[in-house]
Amino acid sequence: DAVVHWFKWDLRIHDNRALSEASEMAQKAGVPLIGLYIVSPQDFEAHLTAPIRIDFMLRSLQVLKEDLAKLDIPLWVETVEKRRDVPGRIIELMEEWRASHLFANLEYEVDELRREAKLARMFAERGLALQVAHDTCVVPPGPLRSGTGRPYAVYSPWFRSWIRHIQENLELLELSEPPKQNPPTARKTYGKLFDCAIPPAPESKRLSDEEKKRLQPLWPAGEQEAMKRLDKFCEENIGQYAKNRNIPSTAGTSNLSVHFACGTLSARTAVRTARDRNNTKRLDGGNEGIQTWISEVAWRDFYKHVLVHWPYVCMNKPFKPEYSNIEWSYNQENFTAWTSGRTGFPIVDAAMRQLSGMGWMHNRCRMIVASFLAKDLLLDWRMGERFFMEHLIDGDFASNNGGWGFAASVGVDPQPYFRIFNPLLQSEKFDPDGEYIRKWVPELRNVKGKAIHDPYGRGAEVLAKKGGYPRQIVEHKGARERALAAYKRGIESG
Ligand code: FAD
Repeated sequence: DAVVHWFKWDLRIHDNRALSEASEMAQKAGVPLIGLYIVSPQDFEAHLTAPIRIDFMLRSLQVLKEDLAKLDIPLWVETVEKRRDVPGRIIELMEEWRASHLFANLEYEVDELRREAKLARMFAERGLALQVAHDTCVVPPGPLRSGTGRPYAVYSPWFRSWIRHIQENLELLELSEPPKQNPPTARKTYGKLFDCAIPPAPESKRLSDEEKKRLQPLWPAGEQEAMKRLDKFCEENIGQYAKNRNIPSTAGTSNLSVHFACGTLSARTAVRTARDRNNTKRLDGGNEGIQTWISEVAWRDFYKHVLVHWPYVCMNKPFKPEYSNIEWSYNQENFTAWTSGRTGFPIVDAAMRQLSGMGWMHNRCRMIVASFLAKDLLLDWRMGERFFMEHLIDGDFASNNGGWGFAASVGVDPQPYFRIFNPLLQSEKFDPDGEYIRKWVPELRNVKGKAIHDPYGRGAEVLAKKGGYPRQIVEHKGARERALAAYKRGIESG
């Protein structure tokens, strides 16, 4: 008597493939559509989901519930304590609602695929139908292969093939239909479901009142906010994106990652919107800013593609097995200096404080701090990967794992002997006037000129000391040599 859409990290009405299909089926059968969201605290624990991300998700759920209610579609939100009970509980609800079809968008991580496989088996035993859709990527992981038929392990050729594939299959960018109004009987039959309240975050993942006050205004939730942000970015910044995207003191990037990660914005809509503003009306050619931005959104697809083809990256393993033998450090003091932004390298410290200050960090700085952790401190990159997941509002397994793999040279296309960032040079190049550093490291606010990049080494010792700013915890040149040797030893013995 009803069709159900199971929302996961796809918290939007517009351009949502499975939701659209669910609505179509409900309309055809003349039955109501019901929305379902399961809060799974064990999944939050297992996947290290940051409290700020959960808070954003719950606020987006509230918006979604209100939007669905305008269409007379209820959204039932329920907490299931044990994650192994999720499939069973979905079946109970389906039976209670006398629903025969469940729609959902696919998630590609190993745990999620296993859960869906279990659900599919249980559904088959009971004669229920489960219909899944590819929604999160512009090009679903799978079809893009190199000339020899192998999956790509390097971004550039994969990207060329991604562009070609979309140009040849333009329906990939098509907007899916929003859900239609439910029949009037929906409120009568499922009235109780409309009264369901959005639960608070599980206790161990709850923001404090102070954090809520400080962080929530930075991240307005829900899909309308995502569209507003996308339109504003396209209006004001996308043209200069190629030039500004690496300067952390400017608002040069879109700040849309949280919306992609929570599904309050579809990657298709983002790419199509950008393309439509290009004078070529294509993904390639034309405006450089637009082309570059589309190629960045494509990185998100690329890392999902990596995850699907090499799922062992979900299991704490480096992409290349021979990189398992690098001897990492587990020095807790150095790790704490890094997490708390007290390494004595101003650009690293500013970035880590941006992360704790707003739950987000600029991409250039993510690369700098990740390289610093793995190369300068030789700490196990998985400690950094984990810390990022626990604190990022946009924490996404594939992108985070891919980013750490890139910066720590343990991922696809690793380049361990060339890709060692010099934090000082990075600082001078991408924060030349020290604006970003001064914003996030108040101890250095009064340091003038180039000394900001290395206060103790460049004559601002007195000011730095007075402000309580720490000295460098490692010496970069020596650390670089040590890293090169450790990588060489590890890889050769692997
Ligand atoms: P924009 O520059 O406006 O880019 C638009 C969108 O493209 C982003 O929102 C994002 O969805 C995608 N994108 C851009 N760059 C990348 C990239 N290198 N890899 C994958 N997708 C990209 N991104 C996440 O969404 N979640 C993460 O957990 C995450 N962890 C990272 C960890 C490390 C060590 C590194 C180096 C990068 C990580 N990134 C992650 C990628 C990138 O830093 C962020 O997506 C970006 O900073 C988000 O800001 P924005 O929305 O303003 O990006």
